[in-house]
Amino acid sequence: MTTRFLIPAAGMGTRLGLDSPKALVALAGRPMLLRTLDRFAEAGLEQGVVIHPAGYEADFRDALAGRAVTLVPGGARRQDSVRCGLEALDDAAEVVAIHDAARPFVSVAAIRASVEAAETFGAATVAIPSVDTILEGDADGFLVATPERHRLWACQTPQTFRAEVVTEAHRRAAAEGFEGTDDASLVRHFGGRVKLVTGSRDNVKITLPEDLRLAELVLREGRA
Ligand code: C5P
Repeated sequence: MTTRFLIPAAGMGTRLGLDSPKALVALAGRPMLLRTLDRFAEAGLEQGVVIHPAGYEADFRDALAGRAVTLVPGGARRQDSVRCGLEALDDAAEVVAIHDAARPFVSVAAIRASVEAAETFGAATVAIPSVDTILEGDADGFLVATPERHRLWACQTPQTFRAEVVTEAHRRAAAEGFEGTDDASLVRHFGGRVKLVTGSRDNVKITLPEDLRLAELVLREGRA
């Protein structure tokens, strides 16, 4: 099936202590976004949409020169950014792999497994079984419940969908004012079935300054 990537990259590096787009931050000399797109190219996916922060189109255009990428500005929340990206997909797209620019260490195997599961089941997300016991707390900071660990997974991306499945979920979420933490949650909220695909612990999201330091170390040691 014809598969496109959709990369939400409209976040700013605020939690990294920066006043610039996080996706353009260099990791060992190469912008995070390009490292992410390199992995997709290795998986045979060269075409798609990158969503940039409004006002930074020229910077992204320069960084992505020569690539078959459509650039669109994003919105205030990740969900808004993904919706903008979905509207910019070309008509040939049958499957859409949505992947955070901030996860540059995604493996080719995880991308392929996510796409294959979406082709089979309509919707899939990469995730890893939780190694931690996760507690549910209340607003006052008291324990409410301790869900059984073997049923808990830590969410990652890519989250991959048949194009009509994810487009319809976003359309309904916008119409009903529903906010979900990610795209798989939206699909699930509206009754869809989402396959969990086991990923790996390397596929970290660069969020805090210590993640940046760890990523530099991993790259310098040639471990990614
Ligand atoms: O902030 P965080 O890293 O959790 O965001 C996950 C991904 O979503 C990042 O790649 C970020 O660029 C993107 N994002 C977006 N639009 C927003 C907020 C985040 O595209 N408004």
